[in-house]
Amino acid sequence: MRFYFLTLFPEIFETYFQTGMIGRGVKAGLIDYAVINIRDFSGNKHHKVDDTPYGGGAGMVMAAPPIVAALKSIPNFSAYPIIYLTPGGKPFEQKDGTKLSKYPGLIFICGHYEGIDQRVIDGYVDLEFSVGDYVLTGGELPALTLADAIARHIPGFLGNCDSLAEESFESHLLEYPHYTKPREFEGEEVPEVLLSGNHAEINKWRLSQAETRTRLKRPDLFEKYEKSK
Ligand code: SAM
Repeated sequence: MRFYFLTLFPEIFETYFQTGMIGRGVKAGLIDYAVINIRDFSGNKHHKVDDTPYGGGAGMVMAAPPIVAALKSIPNFSAYPIIYLTPGGKPFEQKDGTKLSKYPGLIFICGHYEGIDQRVIDGYVDLEFSVGDYVLTGGELPALTLADAIARHIPGFLGNCDSLAEESFESHLLEYPHYTKPREFEGEEVPEVLLSGNHAEINKWRLSQAETRTRLKRPDLFEKYEKSK
């Protein structure tokens, strides 16, 4: 899977793709990335990529020609889903990550300022995603958030496939709580059942913990879980 990022700030991506599990995925050849600087396609000597909005109003808008030229610099670009990160997009969910992990490549357009010219969205964008009901300064963190969530669904990316199956949201449930050594910390003991070695009992306890915390913390999710049972 190759992630393409169209951005005004290419330097943001380097560290992320060299560290942690994402870095390991790159080294293992499971994921790959290309960062395309939209400014390189400005077509003017000042490398200007934004302009004032028609109709007036605050802020600047990223112009269509540099973004589209950057897109077209990707070989066979129309073969990949083109994703625009925007607060107005569909809230990104775990199931979107599963679906998108099946593609050989994905293209992310990272906006800045007031956003991008609507004609790029109308003419080229396949999917619009939001990472939450708040406004960030740019689309780079949302693009990295999606790429990270998607990469985890690529076979072989997580050492142990079971760890994905049990994670939060996989079956409309938040995950159960985890404990590790020491056995006692600040007077708090690890729940007895986890020390029992009885895996049937441990699974029962984990499911009941997952159900309880989902019901309390995310009633909206719990409703979906109840329906799916
Ligand atoms: N004027 C826009 C609005 O009110 O919807 C906000 C623009 S924001 C300052 C600049 C860029 O950051 C957007 O074009 C988008 O790419 C990105 N962005 C900001 N918040 C986001 C969010 N919650 N989800 C996805 N992308 C976001």
